[in-house]
Amino acid sequence: MRMKKGIKKLFPSVNSITGERKEKKMNREDKGITRRQWLQASSGLALAGLLPEELLAQAKEAPPPAPAKKSGTRLILLGNGGGPRPNKMRSQSSWVVMVNEVPYVVDCGGGVSRQMAFANLPLKSLRYIFITHHHSDHNLEYGSLMYNAWATGFNGRIDTYGPPPIEKITNLFLEMNAYDINIRIPDEGRSPLKPMIFVHEFSKGGPVMENDQVKVTAALVNHPPVEPAFAYRFDTPDRSIVFSGDTTPCDNLIKLAKGADILGHEVIHKPSLARLLARIPNADRLLEHIVASHTTHIDVGKVAKEAGVKTLVLTHFVPVDDPTVTDEMWMEGARTQFDGKIIAGKDLMEL
Ligand SMILES: [Zn+2]
Ligand SMILES: [Zn+2]
Repeated sequence: MRMKKGIKKLFPSVNSITGERKEKKMNREDKGITRRQWLQASSGLALAGLLPEELLAQAKEAPPPAPAKKSGTRLILLGNGGGPRPNKMRSQSSWVVMVNEVPYVVDCGGGVSRQMAFANLPLKSLRYIFITHHHSDHNLEYGSLMYNAWATGFNGRIDTYGPPPIEKITNLFLEMNAYDINIRIPDEGRSPLKPMIFVHEFSKGGPVMENDQVKVTAALVNHPPVEPAFAYRFDTPDRSIVFSGDTTPCDNLIKLAKGADILGHEVIHKPSLARLLARIPNADRLLEHIVASHTTHIDVGKVAKEAGVKTLVLTHFVPVDDPTVTDEMWMEGARTQFDGKIIAGKDLMEL
């Protein structure tokens, strides 16, 4: 017993380096060290001289303590780019609502898995995915996100929600990647991926998911020619957050967003579209689509005002990577209509 006390006296200097988790590890190893060193110690070796080095070596090998769990609702803007073109300024559409550290991913544009890594959100914690509509800048990495979670060690349940043909998209993704998946199952000792995925496909607005923490409601929005296209509202114990998806100014969305804490809304900067379109061969057709199916930086303020939201977060910027359109330029149009808080969304911003 006296020897154990002596060993423990050494721990504070080690613990101050490695933190509390290390202390537990040390206490576990305490017994092993005592057994291993007992004979040496009782035969007169200077135990105190041997142990600190050993303990410090172990301390260096130990992983850093896990970050403290954050409770409540956090919103992380993974990607705020609009349109299918990869670019340096913004990752494609994807936001995640974290409710007591459970992620609810909304849209999976290209880059979402990597953005989650940058945001320190473990892919292994994936649980819910919501897709607003099936334009590629919202769903391109839908299957890959689930795959990447699985390849990282995910072994739980994923529920996905969205309009048709989300079920077909899911099945075809799994079929397309069956060769790789079927190799990894025996080779890396993984469970099959398909039984982990539960797809919920729907064509009408209304409540789509509810658990003891979150209620999710969908509303049909206007994004021709994509139909159906949805906006989603998340009501959690401490916040209400709405995602417009892609839409023109839309009454259904205004109703859905009534009184919300945060409305994340897509936006186009019409005066700058000419520069974007100048480098595209099918410019006229594309301009027609953009104007007829999206919301201008002025109208977005009207939507926020009519919905009576507290904060408007601009996202899905089109043009996506024109550095001459500053944050202030994005916000000034909405500000002429809406006197609440306005934020120009940035990738990896947390709200
Ligand atoms: Zn889009
Ligand atoms: Zn779209």
